[in-house]
Amino acid sequence: MPPINVPETDPDAIARAADVPLAPRTLAAQAMGRIDPVTRAVVAPLHLSTTFQRDPDNGYSSGFSYARPDNATVREAEAVIAMLEGAAAGALLFGSGMAAAAAVFSALQPGDHVVVPRVMYWGLRRWLAQEGPRLLLSVDAVDADDPAAIRAAMRPDLTKLVWIETPGNPLWTITDIAAAAGIAHAAGARLVVDSTAASPHHTRPLALGADLVMHSATKILNGHSDVVAGVLAARRADAFWERIAAIRAGWGAILGPFEAYLLMRSLRTFPLRAAAQTAGAAALAERLARHPFVTVVLYPGLSSHPGHAVAARQMEHGFGFMLSIRVAGGESGAVATAASVCLWKRATSLGGVESLIEHRASVEGPGSPCPPDLLRLSTGIEDVGDLYRDLDQALRSAHGNTGSAEP
Ligand SMILES: *Cc1c(COP(=O)(O)O)cnc(C)c1O
Repeated sequence: MPPINVPETDPDAIARAADVPLAPRTLAAQAMGRIDPVTRAVVAPLHLSTTFQRDPDNGYSSGFSYARPDNATVREAEAVIAMLEGAAAGALLFGSGMAAAAAVFSALQPGDHVVVPRVMYWGLRRWLAQEGPRLLLSVDAVDADDPAAIRAAMRPDLTKLVWIETPGNPLWTITDIAAAAGIAHAAGARLVVDSTAASPHHTRPLALGADLVMHSATKILNGHSDVVAGVLAARRADAFWERIAAIRAGWGAILGPFEAYLLMRSLRTFPLRAAAQTAGAAALAERLARHPFVTVVLYPGLSSHPGHAVAARQMEHGFGFMLSIRVAGGESGAVATAASVCLWKRATSLGGVESLIEHRASVEGPGSPCPPDLLRLSTGIEDVGDLYRDLDQALRSAHGNTGSAEP
């Protein structure tokens, strides 16, 4: 590769100057190569100003007028996420994943029909049940891992949005993104993918035909369990995308600059964290599948998982950092196992560097497809031997057996 010698303030220039496209982790590590033009700082400053001086002719030549519609620190993180997703139209950060998802559904018209998966983030399912009728949306939930079920739910001229989540929380159900995009587009609808559990490390939904991709950036994109954030990235800057930007500005749903700064810091190491957490999850899945007190391991990387073949086609660099186990002894076996861990933390959320375990059925409530004997595991970056030994002792003590750690 020739030496990189480009104007240092153009975030895209480094990518253009290289003779081969630079890898996402290269661009992420350098935050798109941006150097602050005033101080030459390699870390972009944190922009807190809520307001900006007008030019003598009353214009805003900087492009910034007020901090509710837009913010320069937010833009830094958006540029990295848009690069990771290959999003030609860019990305928009929101104050949470739920705010990002709500903006998409709120950009629809009254009377529109939407198709959503049965296995999805419980908070969004509940929000749709509560707010969908108020927005005059009609919502159908389908088994989205079966393309025929999506096709059968489409209503000619009425269905405007197909929403999928893959891998789908908490069973890690796999939906074929390209097939779903074909079905949505044939009916004149948009496909939006909640790709939180896949992350851009494993899947790039826009390249597979999706129109929008959504993440809870609270999860592995930030990865340090200290920021709540959400993001949408778009393939095309069309009227729908403009309406979403107008909703963010009008509702004041933009991410705060401090949070954007922390997220930017995290994004620089995101590909490394994702690779380490995925290697850990894959190793745990293999070992737990042989454990005497585990009845089923749900992980798309296992050939026993019903979505494995589709996952192998549409995911790269492995199958993600999330898995679930079903525990012998039903709900009480699962709850007792979670009660007996020492190293794993009993907590909700996922994607952080610390490993978390959660009994999901107690969280998700009515309408959840989650079986009562299921524990959800979010793999962090700890030593995988330490993580396995802690789960093994917890499973054994929950089942009154204190045998050795090796199955
Ligand atoms: C956490 C999560 C959300 C919601 O994101 P928040 O940042 O908590 O608002 C949406 N989808 C999935 C898959 C999630 O895990």
